[in-house]
Amino acid sequence: MDVLAHALWAGAGMLLARRRWAITPRTAAATVALAVAPDIPHLLPILGWSVFGAGNAATVKGYAIAVPGQEPAVPPGVDWLSHNLHCVTHSAIVAAVATLLLWIWLRSLWVPLLGWWSHVVIDVFTHSVDYYPSPVLWPITRQGFDGVAWNTPLFMTLNYLALAATYLWLLRQRRPARVGSRN
Ligand SMILES: [Zn+2]
Repeated sequence: MDVLAHALWAGAGMLLARRRWAITPRTAAATVALAVAPDIPHLLPILGWSVFGAGNAATVKGYAIAVPGQEPAVPPGVDWLSHNLHCVTHSAIVAAVATLLLWIWLRSLWVPLLGWWSHVVIDVFTHSVDYYPSPVLWPITRQGFDGVAWNTPLFMTLNYLALAATYLWLLRQRRPARVGSRN
């Protein structure tokens, strides 16, 4: 899914969670940041190659919005690094290991990791076999599931309509009850 929608869904989740649990604005912000973060590391090798190598800003943009088979040409090493970083940040296995290690260290769940988990789970279903299936089981396999590609106009429309409806609902819920009304 696109990074803006990832951030908005994580933000909605935090707004909802704050009603029930004591979540600080800082934790909520970190959770939203981690919901976006998995889509950034794999762009860094392309960015580095564009700054220090033969690439340019158009290469980075082209890579970020590419469709399969039409990615801008980059050196094999840069492509390899970028691809593997994408696998690392989209793997439920890597996320599980990180969650477990932090849990052992902190002796409790580090809540912002839920942002990362939301990204991993959402991407499984919003990528298809034809559109960069999410490598959720990497390093066991790079294969992904055949979901609905998020870049189709219909999905984009429905997704943002759902987001708008969710935020409207959250906003309505926040409104204080009218005086004299018990509901
Ligand atoms: Zn992603």
